[in-house]
Amino acid sequence: MSSFFHVSIGDGLYLISSVASGTSMEFGPPTANSYLIVGREKALLFDLAVNEPGIRDYIKTITDRPLMVVLSHGHPDHIYHLRDFSQVWMHEADENFPLCLNPGLKLLKRKLTIHQLRQGDTIDLAGRVLTVFHIPGHTMGSILLLDEQTGTLFSGDTVARRVLYGITGCPPLSEFEEMLLHLPTDRIHKIYSAHDRGAIEPEYIGHMIRLMREELPKTEKYWHFPGFPKMRNLVYGEESTPDFFDIAVPEAVLDCEGESCRPK
Ligand SMILES: [Zn+2]
Repeated sequence: MSSFFHVSIGDGLYLISSVASGTSMEFGPPTANSYLIVGREKALLFDLAVNEPGIRDYIKTITDRPLMVVLSHGHPDHIYHLRDFSQVWMHEADENFPLCLNPGLKLLKRKLTIHQLRQGDTIDLAGRVLTVFHIPGHTMGSILLLDEQTGTLFSGDTVARRVLYGITGCPPLSEFEEMLLHLPTDRIHKIYSAHDRGAIEPEYIGHMIRLMREELPKTEKYWHFPGFPKMRNLVYGEESTPDFFDIAVPEAVLDCEGESCRPK
């Protein structure tokens, strides 16, 4: 039996997740969530983050509109069951990204049409327009979608309470902070990320930037994982409270400024 469930988080907006990690909408340990955004003529599924078969059929229980799948980025935990779809929209910088982690996808890619999304693009679902923001950092091709109708920002792994920064190339951290600062917070009412079900307040963007600028350089905690570079790790607050923040940044990125730490 399918373990999907969905919760309405606004007019025509749904969070889709799996009961395997409970059904709580409160902040706590990480969960995996996709988002369904329903317009008058089309619906959009943001990420394939739920590792359960049958997402297409499950979506049909919510809407019968033609479905467009958009990926926030190319990490393997955002492309589950991609084979169920013949086309997908994403930023070109992450197009080949999954292949280096999962060579089996090379075969899949031959059957998949990939459409590109760039900074400032808009997606019109009829009666509902989404604006694309490209913020490299978590990956080089990470994008966020802003539903202009409700002011809901779908932020993937970019504006998030847990940020794994740039393990496969990234801009200097100062540029990432600058791009976050330029998000139009006057148009953002609430934020939903891929691994939390609770709504993040727009003020959290400033909180992230302050912690990255002031606290991260001071921390002496490191995060080691086989195959990953040496990562500086700041953990702030309790996971059950909204202001929790956990960020890991490669030491090499933290130590450099400007062109020298740009990926080749
Ligand atoms: Zn990711």
